Amino acid sequence: MRVVVVGAGLGGVAAAVGLHRLGHEVTLFERGAELREAGTGIVVMPNGLRALDALGLAEDVRGHVMRVTHGGLRDWRGRPLLVTDMARARQEIGAPAMIERAELHRSLRAPLPSELVRTATPVERLEPGPTGVTVISEGNPVVRADAVIVADGIGSTLRAQLFPAHPGLRRTGRMDLRGMLPRPPGLDPDLLAGQLVDRRSGAMFGLFPVGEDRLYWFTDSALHGTPPDADEARRQMLSLMADWHPLVTTLIEATPPAAVYVDPIACLAEPLPSFAVGRIALLGDAAHAMSPDLGQGASQAFEDAAALCRHLGNAEPVDVAERLLRYDTERRPRANHMMRAASRQSRLTSRTGIAAWLRDTLLRAVPSRLATRQLAALWNA
Ligand SMILES: Cc1cc2nc3c(=O)[nH]c(=O)nc-3n(C[C@H](O)[C@H](O)[C@H](O)COP(=O)(O)OP(=O)(O)OC[C@H]3O[C@@H](n4cnc5c(N)ncnc54)[C@H](O)[C@@H]3O)c2cc1C
Repeated sequence: MRVVVVGAGLGGVAAAVGLHRLGHEVTLFERGAELREAGTGIVVMPNGLRALDALGLAEDVRGHVMRVTHGGLRDWRGRPLLVTDMARARQEIGAPAMIERAELHRSLRAPLPSELVRTATPVERLEPGPTGVTVISEGNPVVRADAVIVADGIGSTLRAQLFPAHPGLRRTGRMDLRGMLPRPPGLDPDLLAGQLVDRRSGAMFGLFPVGEDRLYWFTDSALHGTPPDADEARRQMLSLMADWHPLVTTLIEATPPAAVYVDPIACLAEPLPSFAVGRIALLGDAAHAMSPDLGQGASQAFEDAAALCRHLGNAEPVDVAERLLRYDTERRPRANHMMRAASRQSRLTSRTGIAAWLRDTLLRAVPSRLATRQLAALWNA
């Protein structure tokens, strides 16, 4: 069967590899001039690792599984609010992997023969017909496919064409800053794999180890007006977090400005009515762009890719529309649940004033065992 994947991000590449390994004739279209993933680090949650296992792509990534013993939420000075027992979670459900984005992308795309990839080819439009879909790039038909997987990311133009009545993206009013740096000696290990929240400003700082010798940090804070550039955002964050646990500003200051990324956060304004339209399916951020608060965006894209491969495994061209409906039935409830849960988490950590004081009081009362169980439930596919 001839399958086109549009978009060579983490989700599109994983799907293209899986479908190619099933024996389908795959072409992966990417608008960028080369295959690459920019940015800092990324967490792949245990459910994402299981999806990569199903695609035969987890081996390298599992080498980056985190060995931390505790996670959870702390206040801005580093005092525990909600403690999760990561050692127990690791035993019961597995641990997340923390990996550099570029390395993850390289490892996922390695099995894909280069002749299946067409870079510098933006897909403008899809024209569905009774027996296939014509893919249009720069005004010309480039290929006719039995199935098309739309993986063109959060700003998906194809999603807007497939669902013209959908409102598209919604800015959450938050901004994230991310950076990576060598791990300083003598670092307080209790702060690793945890998040610090500040009920005064509603800002958040998170920290993860990347292997033995590097650290990945991220912040989340209110965005007022237009997004600042990385330098200005870094300055704002250093001022906002000046009286936080001293490690916070030390790490932000020690990160070279060129290694700092700033993102205004957006998510789908509403869930899509379907992840499948005839012979076309949507995957990853194109289908369910969510705020990054649960670190689930890529893991959900990997679950999509694994499900697509299951449903299209032995499919003939005539079966495609029905198989993609099954994909929609399987994936949409779970991915939309994650999208809603991520928005709830964002609201929880960004609270200020009395609501945040109440949150902190309640969180302190939650037993670690219960917090760990809730985390495990989230990671359970
Ligand atoms: C600040 C931040 C932190 C995050 N942290 C995490 C985390 O720790 N863990 C996690 O799981 N997720 C995280 N996410 C989310 C995660 O990055 C995304 O969910 C994931 O990268 C989506 O992958 P994708 O393949 O769907 O889309 P993308 O990675 O956006 O890929 C889309 C691809 O399609 C290409 N493209 C676009 N339009 C076209 C076209 N018309 N024709 C051809 N090609 C096209 C683009 O060039 C791109 O290569 C985070 C997100 C943000 C913003």
